[in-house]
Amino acid sequence: MIKKIGIIGAGTMGSGIAAASAVSGFETLLYDISHEAVNKAVDSISKGFKKLEEKGKLTPAKRAEAEANLAKVADLTGLADCDIIIEAAIENIDLKKELYKNLDEITKPDTILATNTSSFSITSISTAVKNNPGRVVGMHFFNPANIMKLVEVIRGEFTTDDTVGAVIHLCKLLGKVPVLCKDTPAFIVNRVARAFYGESLKIMGEENLSAEALDKIMKEEGGFAMGPFELMDLIGIDINLSVTKSVYEAFFYDQKYKPSPIQQKMVDSGLLGRKTKQGFYKY
Ligand code: NAD
Repeated sequence: MIKKIGIIGAGTMGSGIAAASAVSGFETLLYDISHEAVNKAVDSISKGFKKLEEKGKLTPAKRAEAEANLAKVADLTGLADCDIIIEAAIENIDLKKELYKNLDEITKPDTILATNTSSFSITSISTAVKNNPGRVVGMHFFNPANIMKLVEVIRGEFTTDDTVGAVIHLCKLLGKVPVLCKDTPAFIVNRVARAFYGESLKIMGEENLSAEALDKIMKEEGGFAMGPFELMDLIGIDINLSVTKSVYEAFFYDQKYKPSPIQQKMVDSGLLGRKTKQGFYKY
């Protein structure tokens, strides 16, 4: 039974997953290579709990319980006795494989290792784990992870039924809606969404339209909850570009997934969206 959840990466996604986990009653340990990122995340999660209490969505007792459930750990070994570790470090396959190699060494062979990757092959990540690769699974949350209900559960080539079953059960305890997906590049939602971002970036250049104008059309006339540019800012321009590059490569450089030079230029300039207070918009 899952009682203790370890989370790697305290950025946009890791902090949302940690909030969902702590408020759902799980002992939650948060680790990031940057201590500053963990401190920032715990601070912002606490503020989020306070807001929920003010809105009457959490009782003072439940808020105190959620806060007490959350703890920081200073290094990876601090996650060694977790029942599941959900990894939400940056979208870089070499870095993820190195992390899984280290997790393989420090965890028990039945600790579930779930990755929040948006695009990489779960099977490929699981090759870094020698002790029971059947415990590696995809658990793809959506942003903001403490609010969005959908979680894509991805079964890799070696993922066991027990692992899939445990993760689906966990999603339900977190108040999420799990959907089982095959291990294909970017799974379901992110693959469909490639065109939402890619075509919008092309139209921006071809029609000389601003982000504001395109977002307005998509929301007011298209009925979308968010425009593509505000969504890219929310995701993080760097993460979105990494996902685009990974999908482009995984589909053998199919031109329809080709990244845009606009994304690359923004990443090179440090304009990463909400997290750096500037992307297509200023915050
Ligand atoms: P982010 O840039 O906001 O945060 C990533 C964090 O990982 C940073 O705090 C960084 O310090 C940390 N990190 C880097 N190397 C590390 C290491 N070796 N060990 C521990 N921590 C390390 O990124 P994010 O948007 O939270 O994305 C994280 C993962 O979630 C990626 O795989 C991404 O594809 C996926 N994802 C992102 C979104 C989104 O909308 N941003 C949605 C779903 C899934």
